[in-house]
This record gives sequence, structure tokens and C-alpha cells, in this order.
Amino acid sequence: MSEPSVSEQEQLVDDLHIQRCEQSRINEVNLDDPGFGDHFSDHMLSIKYEHGDWQVPEIIPFGDFSISPANATLHYGQTVFEGMKAFHGEDGSIRIFRMQDHLERLNRSCKRMCIPKLDTGILQEALKTLIKMDRNWVPTQHGNSLYIRPLAFAADANLGVAPAKTYQLLIMTSPVGAYYDEGFDPVSLTTTKEYIRSAKGGSGFAKTACNYGPTLLPAKKAHEDGYTQVIWLDAKERRYIEEVGTMNLFFKIDGQLYTPSLNGTILGGITRDSVIKLAQRAEVPVYEQPLAIDQVFDAAREGTLEEAFGSGTAAVISPIGSITHDGDKIMTNKDQIGPFAQQMFDTITAIQYGKQDDPYNWTTTV
Ligand SMILES: *Cc1c(COP(=O)(O)O)cnc(C)c1O
Repeated sequence: MSEPSVSEQEQLVDDLHIQRCEQSRINEVNLDDPGFGDHFSDHMLSIKYEHGDWQVPEIIPFGDFSISPANATLHYGQTVFEGMKAFHGEDGSIRIFRMQDHLERLNRSCKRMCIPKLDTGILQEALKTLIKMDRNWVPTQHGNSLYIRPLAFAADANLGVAPAKTYQLLIMTSPVGAYYDEGFDPVSLTTTKEYIRSAKGGSGFAKTACNYGPTLLPAKKAHEDGYTQVIWLDAKERRYIEEVGTMNLFFKIDGQLYTPSLNGTILGGITRDSVIKLAQRAEVPVYEQPLAIDQVFDAAREGTLEEAFGSGTAAVISPIGSITHDGDKIMTNKDQIGPFAQQMFDTITAIQYGKQDDPYNWTTTV
């Protein structure tokens, strides 16, 4: 099926069914200190896939719904999600950061998980309508934002291991606080010999539930040993750096920026892409290539490792204070945020809040 024309999309969104909640719950939430993922705005977007097609989008009150105990997602995990944010600018505008890129990634995840492709044009218009309806839920305090969580899942009640015939897409939104209350908190990372996250041919590049459940135990063990998170190495040689938690990794060595290449096992972060583009714009050479953990440890010993940081939607930039591998530990940038990581954080957030121009048209004003 070809993409509908703009007028057809508008038509479809005119057809969007809206059922408003009877009473807003906004007074139950302190938008200046909302935490992360604890509260949900009044409405959510729902699109059902039935009879071989995605149906007309609906905006309905956020709330519980009933599900069969035989629901295929609960058993076999045929489900995908996304995570993006909307920001309240000082000019009063609300901007969604890199919406189209997030929706395209949602479709790449869908493809890997046999979930039918969504029309990103319709999704964009429906999502903008949702954010406009719940615009009071976008926190005004700088640093806070509205987290947007799309979720698509198999809706069949059937115990066979096969792609479902029915699906549901939901987009819920959640006001969230600034990741850092006061200054950056550098994280301490450790590798693990025992576990892997993803192997070539698996689903590491997709935001699908099955990539996250199995990481909870290794993360718990790392926590008990005093580390913030696990830094994943490749499944085959346990030598090449992959990523950490829900963040991609960057290392600044001798004036140049290195990040592991996207080879199918790593999630292709939108923040990662933003850092790469802004670094190149700042004339810092960027290398996307396989990066051995030994290379980073050697650079640290030689004194050429300048900075290390993670990138992801939740924190934007997360400085790395130390890495432990095979009984060896290196410190990066004296456990402080480095100037380059700070520059990336400042630039990305300035674009998100509309405080500086947006050279790549990353924001969509709703
Ligand atoms: C979401 C995610 C990231 C970061 O992606 P962004 O688009 O920058 O938020 C990195 N790694 C994993 C495993 C993720 O789930």
C-alpha cells in the first residue's frame, strides 16, 4: 500500500475518534517533581489491528483494560516499544524531539517482531493531537519533560507460537523529572563474563521486551557488587564494547570520538545519532567502528582517554566515571563530566527546549 497523501492523512486524523476523560487527574501530580514513569496523563492513543489492517486511531482516557490470560504477548513477547520526549519551551511552544525518527525505528522493531507496519504519517498527526489535548501535562520547569511511550503488542488469545492476527498500538505519556537534580552523577560500569545481551542474528537492534527481561539479573548482580550498570561486550569474543542498559557509548580518545558501529546487536539510539551529527558539526572526527575494551583500557593507561559517556533519551548524556573489566579498573576524566559531554548535553537540551536554532529540524512543534 502506498503512503496516503497529506490530505488523506488529515482526513484520517479528522476521523480520529476522541473520547475525553470525565475529570482530569492533573491535580494529583506535582509536575515540578514527577519522578520517572510513575504518573500518566489523562489520555492515550489506541489503534487496533484487525481484519488485516490498522483501524482508525482513537484517543481514550488512560486506564486499565482487560486482557485474556492467553494473550500471546504475555507468553511469547511479540511486542515492541519506543521512548521519546516532548518539551515545554520558554516561548510556550511544545516540541517533540525527533518524532519521525522514533516512529521509523518503531517500524524497524515491528518488522523484526512480525508486527504489521504502521503508517508513520497517521501516527504523527494522531500523536500531535494527543499531546495538544494533554498539553497541561507537559511540565514547564526546565529539565522536566513529557515522556512518550508507544507500545505495540499481539492481542490474540491463543497459545500457538505464531505471529498474531490482531494487535494493539498504545501511546501513553508520562511527565518525568530531570535526570540529574544537581550536577551529573557519573556511573560506574563493569563488564560481565557470565552474561551477554545480544548476539548477531538476534534482536538486539529492536526495542522489544525480550531484550530487557534477561538483563535484569546481571544488572542486579552488578548492583550488589557496587556498580551502576553492566557494560555489554559482544557475544562471540567478549572483547568488543556494545552498549549499556538503555544507552549507547562514546569514548573521546586523543581528540577523536569513537562509538561502536551498528552491527545488528546494538540499539541504534536517536541520541547517539544526534551526538554524532553535532560532533561532526563541531569538527570533532567521529569513528563508528568495532571498539575493543582493551583499546579503551590502553588509552586510559596511556593517558589519551579524555572522556567516556553514554547517550539515551532519558538522561541525554550520562558521564562514565569508571569501568571495571577482568579485575582491572580505569577512571575516566577523574569521575567528572568532561567538557565535550557537557557541550553535547547543553546543545541537545537547548534544541529540545527551543533555546537555540535547530539546524537539523529535529523538533516538531505541536
Ligand atoms: C532506547 C535505547 C537506547 C537509546 O536510544 P535513544 O533513542 O537514544 O533513546 C540505547 N540502548 C538501548 C538498549 C535502548 O533500549
